Amino acid sequence: MTHAPTRTEVIVVGAGPTGLTLACDLARRGVSALLVEQAGALFPGSRGKGLQPRTQEVFEDLGLLAAVHAAGRPYPRMLSWENGERQGEWDLAGGPGPAAPDPTVPFPSVWMLPQWRTQELLHERLRELGGEVVLGTALSGLDQYPDRVEARLTGPDGAERTVSARYLVAADGGRSTVRRAVGIPMAGEQVDPRPALVADLEIDGLDRGNWHVWPKAPGGPLLLCPLPSTTAFQLFAQFGAESGTDSGTDSGTKGCPEHDAEPDTSPEGVRRTVAARTHLPESALGRVHWASGFRPRTALAERFREGRVFLAGDAAHIHSPAGGQGLNTSIQDAYNLGWKLGQVLRHGADEALLDSYEEERLPIAAEVLEISTRLHRAGGVRAGGLRRGPRTEQLGLGYEDGPLTVEARPGLAEDALRAGERAPDAPLDGTTGDTASDTTSSTANGTADSTADSTADSGSASGTGSARRLFELFRGPHVTVLAVGRALPELPAGVRGYRIDGGVTEHAYGPGLFVVRPDGYLGLATHDPADLPGYLGRLGLR
Ligand SMILES: Cc1cc2nc3c(=O)[nH]c(=O)nc-3n(C[C@H](O)[C@H](O)[C@H](O)COP(=O)(O)OP(=O)(O)OC[C@H]3O[C@@H](n4cnc5c(N)ncnc54)[C@H](O)[C@@H]3O)c2cc1C
Repeated sequence: MTHAPTRTEVIVVGAGPTGLTLACDLARRGVSALLVEQAGALFPGSRGKGLQPRTQEVFEDLGLLAAVHAAGRPYPRMLSWENGERQGEWDLAGGPGPAAPDPTVPFPSVWMLPQWRTQELLHERLRELGGEVVLGTALSGLDQYPDRVEARLTGPDGAERTVSARYLVAADGGRSTVRRAVGIPMAGEQVDPRPALVADLEIDGLDRGNWHVWPKAPGGPLLLCPLPSTTAFQLFAQFGAESGTDSGTDSGTKGCPEHDAEPDTSPEGVRRTVAARTHLPESALGRVHWASGFRPRTALAERFREGRVFLAGDAAHIHSPAGGQGLNTSIQDAYNLGWKLGQVLRHGADEALLDSYEEERLPIAAEVLEISTRLHRAGGVRAGGLRRGPRTEQLGLGYEDGPLTVEARPGLAEDALRAGERAPDAPLDGTTGDTASDTTSSTANGTADSTADSTADSGSASGTGSARRLFELFRGPHVTVLAVGRALPELPAGVRGYRIDGGVTEHAYGPGLFVVRPDGYLGLATHDPADLPGYLGRLGLR
């Protein structure tokens, strides 16, 4: 643990998707953070391979979406097999094909990338931002004090060392040591008593254009999905399934009665399971990169905060893989917490801002758990575990009832965009009524104009510059104020403001003044400029 200092601002425990995302966000805010990972290398498996539309938006903001898109692919169509014969194809996402383009939703479809590759790209981005993962270093205990938390960390040499920080974030997964250390209970239940096997393996001669499914395989359904960025397939095989015809024919089990059958996760066991349940000969089955057996569970921590310690990701909520929600919800936790820590540590916001993390994220986690459990029980995992809709895409999840949400426009139409919802994208390129312009104080229909941009990190106050989309104006660690169809008032340092008239923006937002939080949600929506100072002051912006 030679790289670890003895004092830092935030200790992040665990370099899974949650810890890596949070570390990237803190690094770009100039917050010093120590990210420790007990393993000697990042996680090697493909398990959470579906990046939902909202996660892609987060990755765009963090500056790694181009790499994610280059490395991944859209979901392939499912192809079912029976007795060595192709039976038919269907679209997993439940729609007739790729989602229709919408100017307010730049990435409408789930994107496939193995989890290990997503983590690798997050790690690369973290290094670009000046951060690092301290590998082979486990948290073994912690103590809290009024002004700090002290973590006991054990490095690869077995030596224990104490590091103190203002805050500590548990991103250490479902078996979280931190959660136990601070005594937060986690209530849960088994979603399915039947075990499943997930593995990544090489297969010769199976086409990579489809996700192959053997729904009536002996012993239980089996799926093989070609993984982008690799030559491997992800295997998912259910054990103890009622639809299986004869467990005895499945030599991948250990010979138990069907409902007790445990997956054999050895490379030979993985290959035997595939050979027994499909028409693929064992000779076509190659190297097994990673394998894991699991029983789908759902669980939710009673609290997401204890003093200076926050729980995020699987440390706070555990999902069935159905619906592809676990990794995505975890990344959203990190994205919600990162900017709040930044505002408190860098901008002097009141620590009360941090209370909003649990108040906003716990109800979302509870809802997402309910969705993934329902999808699982409806057969979601066997059907590939994915359904398209505003909730599973996480575009429709927001903080309408949250403590940071102020909707101050009376008489809104039923379907109007409201404070608390995701701030939608919109083109600023003149093709749909908007034009991005640097001209000052223009009020012509279809123009965007910035009069207040005094962030230390912005580098310029040149208005929308070459921005072609609203999301380009939001990108970065700052708070944005949009004045839609009205004058932009004076704004404090640290806030970027733009006036936008007409076009998709005015159609989507309606007229008003909108505070867009750094995580892309509408905090305040008002007509009255006098509402701004008080609201921005809560974020440390005065
Ligand atoms: C079989 C399976 C299939 C899945 N499929 C999907 C899917 O299709 N879609 C989806 O969205 N999600 C899926 N998930 C869920 C997804 O993988 C998790 O939600 C995601 O990995 C959570 O990320 P995390 O960073 O919170 O935790 P983890 O990925 O578990 O990372 C925690 C990290 O903390 C480290 N750590 C633990 N204890 C300590 C300690 N004391 N000190 C230091 N480090 C520590 C661990 O080594 C690990 O690297 C699946 C999960 C499983 C098990």
